[in-house]
Amino acid sequence: MSTITIHGREFVKSISNEEICAAVKEVADRINRDYAGKRPVLLGVLNGCFMFAAELMRNLEVECEISFVKLSSYQGTNSTGVIREVLGLSESITGRDVIIIEDIVDTGLTMQNMMETLGTREPASIEIASLFVKPARLQVPVNVKYSAFTIPDRFIVGFGLDYDGLGRNLPDIYDVVE
Ligand code: 5GP
Repeated sequence: MSTITIHGREFVKSISNEEICAAVKEVADRINRDYAGKRPVLLGVLNGCFMFAAELMRNLEVECEISFVKLSSYQGTNSTGVIREVLGLSESITGRDVIIIEDIVDTGLTMQNMMETLGTREPASIEIASLFVKPARLQVPVNVKYSAFTIPDRFIVGFGLDYDGLGRNLPDIYDVVE
């Protein structure tokens, strides 16, 4: 078993990079089918989405664009529940097919907030693609149409996801050891 320590906490490897890339490819294949003949705009939520967004993009064959926004409500291993505004969305999404690219849906509050904010800009459609979903943690109903992994209620790092700023560079996913 491969373990690492970040900020003094132990993590154990749970999902390999190969498994992640295979699952992301399946998500991309679905998007390729569903958006055939359209030109979706992917909207990545920084910082955590960057590896998922890159891996997804390189597997997309539909004509598509990508843009990034920033909003962060998370510190340490517990959601603060504080939702901040969407920063950096300069492009118009009116009439566009938007796919939000998120690293992980936990309570769902961030995605609920994003859907509401983006909905006022009259896109043609909005869907969510998230690398991970933790169904046991959901506090609000959020429809994640494209998810690569459904995982239990455990804090994870790697493949773009951090623990207080560290661990984003790890190619694999690690679970916190409680
Ligand atoms: P939500 O609003 O759904 O509660 O929170 C979503 C955000 O919380 C994610 O974009 C991510 O930044 C953070 N988050 C939730 N669970 C985890 C986790 O297990 N690991 C890490 N690194 N971040 C998480």
